[in-house]
Amino acid sequence: GTQLNMMFDQLTEAISSIAKQLGPKQKITEASVKPALRGVRRALLDADVNVNVADTLIDGVKSRSLGKEVMEGVTAEQQFIKAMYDELLDMMGGDSATAKSTQQTYKPAATLAFTKDKPTVVLLAGLQGAGKTTAAGKLALYLKEREVDYDAVNPEDDQETQLASKLPKRQRKVLLVAADVYRPAAIKQLEILGESIQVDVFSKGTDANPVDIAREALQKAANEGYDTVLVDTAGRQIIDKDLMTELKRIKETVKPDETLLVVDAMTGQEAASLTAAFDSAVGITGAILTKMDGDSRGGAAVSVRGVSGKPIKFVGTGEKTADLEPFYPDRMASRILG
Ligand code: GDP
Repeated sequence: GTQLNMMFDQLTEAISSIAKQLGPKQKITEASVKPALRGVRRALLDADVNVNVADTLIDGVKSRSLGKEVMEGVTAEQQFIKAMYDELLDMMGGDSATAKSTQQTYKPAATLAFTKDKPTVVLLAGLQGAGKTTAAGKLALYLKEREVDYDAVNPEDDQETQLASKLPKRQRKVLLVAADVYRPAAIKQLEILGESIQVDVFSKGTDANPVDIAREALQKAANEGYDTVLVDTAGRQIIDKDLMTELKRIKETVKPDETLLVVDAMTGQEAASLTAAFDSAVGITGAILTKMDGDSRGGAAVSVRGVSGKPIKFVGTGEKTADLEPFYPDRMASRILG
């Protein structure tokens, strides 16, 4: 989005002021980078990055650079951009130690934990309007058609070879479960979504109890050979006790392999604190960050893992069912830095 580009402009401007101070083989001192890092911090906070996350990033950039010389063959600016890139990568769950360059590699930071001898169960939670039901449909389609067996990829291969070798697919048989019984419209929405992507939807209307629905859905999945069960749970306007209690009950019953919180990127660092709150209340395994196509400022993408300790696993990039991608920290770091 344009806001992300703005964050990039501000960051580059701040970092480029370093170049005016430092030439090749000059030692990087606290004094010489102070104004630049102040600018970087401001750019991060303007992009609605959580303040602790911003400070951790700054500290990391400092410890990567202070006391070192500006390397031959690169400018001070380039050296700082690389330090910033590595820090962003680590913060978002990537691995700066294995990142060869600022180019996108191929493996996302976190993929789903699939089970072998029973259907894999994924619970989707979130506040109303975050895009939870849409995400359920997107994830179903993704697992049905595009889930890639990253374990089968040889990480030694360069990216071109990986792309050329056509990654093996794990096409899954998915059952969508409508457990948001408080809004008849939500059940209907999921049924329509399911039909459009040709994925079966299990629903029992609004009279049944969500825990019973989830239990029956699991039974059906086991009996009929589904290997993945996606449960769309109820959303509320705010986090309340009833919502958490219900989620906990469903969790105890279906023992999910993944509990994913769907959060809206437009809410910036709110998305990060929400993820932390859901995790401490019910325990989650990761987040799906929606509406990354919108005018979001990047604060959510940068902050979620740093604040909650939980990785972003997927991002939503539009309203259509195909608009879902695994979260690549390296690609996001490159986008933020231009
Ligand atoms: P729920 O209440 O959390 O189940 O939210 P919905 O799935 O009904 O989505 C709420 C609104 O957000 C709908 O208008 C969706 O089309 C829209 N939406 C969901 N995900 C995305 C996304 O990744 N990008 C955009 N632009 N819109 C989205």
